[in-house]
Amino acid sequence: MKENNRKNFPSAGKGTGRRLAVLAGAMMLTFASPLSVWADADKGGDTVDTAVTVPAFPGGAEDSQAGQGAASSAGSDSAGGTVQGGVSVIQSGSSTDAGGQTADSSQTTAATQTGDSSGTATRIIRTQTAAGTSGSGTAVDSVSQATSGGDYSLGPGYFGQSGVQIQQSLDPNSATSNAQIYDVTNPVVKVAEKYSYDQMVQDINTLKMKYGNKMQVNTIGTSLDGRAIYDCIIGNVSAPRHILIQGGIHGREYLNPLLLMQQMEMALANYDTGSFNGNSLSSMFSQVAVHFVPMTNPDGITISQFGPDMLRSQTLKDAVSTCYVMDTAAGRTSEDTAGYFSKWKANAEGVDLNLNFDALWQQVSSTEFPSYSGYKGTAPGSEPETQALMNLYNDSRYNWKAVIHYHSMGNVIYWDILGNKVQAESSELANLMSTVTGGYRLLPSEGGGGYKDWIQLSSKPVPSVTLETGKVSCPMPISEYSSIWTDNRLTWAVAMEWVAAR
Ligand SMILES: [Zn+2]
Repeated sequence: MKENNRKNFPSAGKGTGRRLAVLAGAMMLTFASPLSVWADADKGGDTVDTAVTVPAFPGGAEDSQAGQGAASSAGSDSAGGTVQGGVSVIQSGSSTDAGGQTADSSQTTAATQTGDSSGTATRIIRTQTAAGTSGSGTAVDSVSQATSGGDYSLGPGYFGQSGVQIQQSLDPNSATSNAQIYDVTNPVVKVAEKYSYDQMVQDINTLKMKYGNKMQVNTIGTSLDGRAIYDCIIGNVSAPRHILIQGGIHGREYLNPLLLMQQMEMALANYDTGSFNGNSLSSMFSQVAVHFVPMTNPDGITISQFGPDMLRSQTLKDAVSTCYVMDTAAGRTSEDTAGYFSKWKANAEGVDLNLNFDALWQQVSSTEFPSYSGYKGTAPGSEPETQALMNLYNDSRYNWKAVIHYHSMGNVIYWDILGNKVQAESSELANLMSTVTGGYRLLPSEGGGGYKDWIQLSSKPVPSVTLETGKVSCPMPISEYSSIWTDNRLTWAVAMEWVAAR
């Protein structure tokens, strides 16, 4: 089934530049020489409104239907932390997926890195052979098998397994070796064990004051407990193409809001002087606006970081206390309140927001009652935080071209869903993200009910991937952050380059 999809990949030389070509047959990823996809908007002016040559829009590429048959399954953190413990299994190379293939050892990966003749580009060719392409729909994947114990529920319903798992052994710096984008010295956004909502709001305001019109800050909704949900747009808000990077939808995954805020600051700080594969960032931002929604679930993060006493609403405090009583009675936790609340994923009503989207929602397994994790709500889209993300995606001002969702944990990428309307494109984006992160492993699906799933099934689908950061269960110690940063600091730039060439 994968073979049938390959015709949907953009061919080399398409459009104004050969930025990325997936070569038929071998499923190679090629980062080709930087050609003039980007106009030099920084010459003679550094504002985002400088006139540039905009690459031709791909003619409805996202509407092309990829194969429908590669439905797949996987447990994930989306329902109950089922990724926990999966890494060691995956890395052992001994786990099996639904089709019975060995997850790693049956696949071939080769990485070749060569400079081109001018010495200005780095070229990476990765060859991979997919594992099985058919699934019985009866087995769980290695991740969920590895995590079926404890007080975590299994992931949402299993829909089969396409078995595309890929091993990488790439130099994490190779995909971005031509990035003239530097970490910020003395940044506004400082690494903290518990990067809080209040700190984030303060930092957003400081960045806005510091970087002015390079950044537009919007609120896209309000949480149950009255916290604003922010959409920070970097670049030209009228750009013909938009990317959305979203994180913090699960409470205990609060290193990702820090990551997204630091990505954002790095983009701003390098805006005027930085370049990526020979293209100035300012010209890139004139054509592609990048939206950062760093903290979709501020109430849940507040609960996980500081406990329910930090909620403002007594009604909501009572609601989450009831969750503890119910989960304890049901045997879903045996922890004390401090341990229990530190693992909180849901919003302040006990709804797991990434199970609340209208994407195979009826099939998504769920607890019967509100909980710290794994409860999908009374109806799809029932929660204000869910609605905020839906409304953002449906905002006609933004021509979305790619969406990246940050979750934790596992150092894996989920990229597919049953009925995915942009399967080939999502696969391509996932491979790209795998490369730039230095080898995050691809897993085909995370079930249903998620924002990614909803986007891939929507009437206007765009390529969409979920990056699961970190190697230990959440909440993660801050010691995990440096590797998360190293792996993910430039995902936004790579995504910008990709969408511009499509
Ligand atoms: Zn998550």
